[in-house]
Amino acid sequence: MAETERSTGRIKVSGKVLAAAALIACAIIAATVFVVPKFAGTFKEYRALRADLKKAQSEQAAAEKSNAALAQSVKEMTRMKTDCEKLSSQVFELAAKTEKDITEGKSNKKICYITLDDGPYRRGQDFLELFRKYDVKATFFMTTANGDMLPDQADISASSVYPDYLRFGHTIGNHTYSHDYGSGGLYSDTGAFMQAVEEQQDFTEKATGGYKTQIVRFPGGTGMAGSRLGAIEDSLREEGYTWVDWTVDSGDSWGSDTANASLIKSNVLSASKEQDIMVVLFHEWSEPTLEAMPDIIDTLRGSGYIFLPLFPGSMMVSK
Ligand SMILES: [Zn+2]
Repeated sequence: MAETERSTGRIKVSGKVLAAAALIACAIIAATVFVVPKFAGTFKEYRALRADLKKAQSEQAAAEKSNAALAQSVKEMTRMKTDCEKLSSQVFELAAKTEKDITEGKSNKKICYITLDDGPYRRGQDFLELFRKYDVKATFFMTTANGDMLPDQADISASSVYPDYLRFGHTIGNHTYSHDYGSGGLYSDTGAFMQAVEEQQDFTEKATGGYKTQIVRFPGGTGMAGSRLGAIEDSLREEGYTWVDWTVDSGDSWGSDTANASLIKSNVLSASKEQDIMVVLFHEWSEPTLEAMPDIIDTLRGSGYIFLPLFPGSMMVSK
């Protein structure tokens, strides 16, 4: 007999079928023992991958949403900047006309340009608050002689406060980067002076997102430049800068024993009697100036003065 046949109850199974069944059973066992765990791992990985993909997709959607919001706020900021610039140019146009009317005797208004040198200081924030309260605009001539930290509050960087001055509509002027008027300093040659101006411009630009300091104040005043003044002025003009001294010295830098609030007040108020348009020199670090300022503003306002920020087109600014 070529084939053996066995009888298992009523079903007769051939030896070949049995062998095949045994093979299949082995295959199933082998698959269960070796293959399924492998695929189970792959399936787990696949599920994890799918979850990752879903997560990545939702993160991308969120990123796109926040990018769109960012683009919108950049757009709004640009619009605000343009509005601000438009408003400033209108204010400056009006200010130039007022200056002209005053000098021609057509207006009984008077103008006081408050200028504060050597900032930024922490005290600058107090001046900003005071000017906001009194609705006064001023000009701050900034230097980086003290480094990037506020001299009177060393945990605040100087560059972080620059935008505050612009936000309130004040003018930021250029008081040179080094403020070094000693021998070998910025008055030693024209190049040194211009470099100190450009460095301060770069610093201001970075701190404000592109503000151009158009008005320079010489540390110590133009008199400090001596015989180099003409050459420095030519270079400033060439680079598109203007410059300004002052017509009234408040006296706040005359030394700690003499510079007190009442002296500062009387210096400014007595000089104002002879000047319908004046540029007053103050210093941002001076506490007596901060103390004297409310009375100075009140009294000058009472005599018809308005308080404006300096602008390159002002007749008080040299070009
Ligand atoms: Zn100075």
